[in-house]
Amino acid sequence: MTTEEVKVLIIGSGPSGYTAAIYAARAGLNPVLITGGEPGGQLTTTNDVENFPGYPEGVNGPQMMMDFQKQAERFDTDIRYGMVTSVDFSSYPHKAIVDNKYEIIAESVIISTGASAKYLGLPSEKRLLNFGVSACAICDGFFYKGKEVAVVGAGDSAAEEATYLANICPKVYLIVRRDEMRASKIMQQRVLNTPNIEVLWNSETDEVLGEKEVTGARILNNKTGEKSEIAISGFFVAIGHKPNTEIFKDYLEMDEVGYLKVQPGTSKTSIEGVFVTGDASDRVYRQAVTAAGTGCMGALDAEKFLAAKEFDKPE
Ligand code: NDP
Repeated sequence: MTTEEVKVLIIGSGPSGYTAAIYAARAGLNPVLITGGEPGGQLTTTNDVENFPGYPEGVNGPQMMMDFQKQAERFDTDIRYGMVTSVDFSSYPHKAIVDNKYEIIAESVIISTGASAKYLGLPSEKRLLNFGVSACAICDGFFYKGKEVAVVGAGDSAAEEATYLANICPKVYLIVRRDEMRASKIMQQRVLNTPNIEVLWNSETDEVLGEKEVTGARILNNKTGEKSEIAISGFFVAIGHKPNTEIFKDYLEMDEVGYLKVQPGTSKTSIEGVFVTGDASDRVYRQAVTAAGTGCMGALDAEKFLAAKEFDKPE
């Protein structure tokens, strides 16, 4: 297996990874960025991004990620298509294996592996993704203004998305699989006190309906076995996210879901020289612009770390 040494290794190619790359490259650190299995990250599954500042007319998600990439390349980021398949942070310098093929020995590592929204796993849901099916009401809800929609889930995200949508949509169905919600009491109260949210208890989605775009959903009542249909234009899945941090679990502190822990106000993980940016450590905000912001933090923290190490080197 071949081995190479780098100053900064960035793992992941969403807004946080590319922002880290732009900053690290402009600081002369010659970053190597490994894209991961979904080059461009979650935004490549979104059509229109209207809430990223600087694009007054909005921008298509894949186009925006190409712009991020171009900007990182302009400053000579070494971008490589591939997956980091394992890491070894047990001794310094840190090590990462790419595609089970070659090893990178890195003086600093910026983890920007993001998170993936969970989906129900129905073929109709997959087919209609971006054609009425979305995993982000804050990103896409606006396109359903004035239309009837449904949200699946019963946690804080689902409750928040349902109340958000209820402000712009005449009717919101909340599809809850049990007879109670997991969301915090205050969020549940908000849902129950919003007249245009109808909670469908003990309900599972049997099928998302529609040929080219969502027109409805078939709901199964898991208590009675009855099936019924609702007419909707938007189907929002809010059943949680999974951070892509599995390969770090032997080395870094993470919470019970897998979000990496940072020292407050920084991008520093529990291991020196390893930084985390974007959704891999953010269970609350999960926006492109916040990911980009923490990407900048990761690069600046890495730069400081490397400079201090250089300063401490014996003559
Ligand atoms: P959670 O894991 O808390 O909730 C997921 C919900 O989805 C559960 O109600 C679960 O049902 C339901 N679910 C899971 N799988 C399925 C399925 N296949 N079909 C139908 N329903 C399903 O995720 P959230 O994203 O809601 O929240 C994640 C974390 O972020 C939480 O700690 C939350 O408190 C926090 N958060 C905080 C916010 C705030 O404070 N403003 C806003 C958003 C999130 P069941 O209950 O039956 O298991």
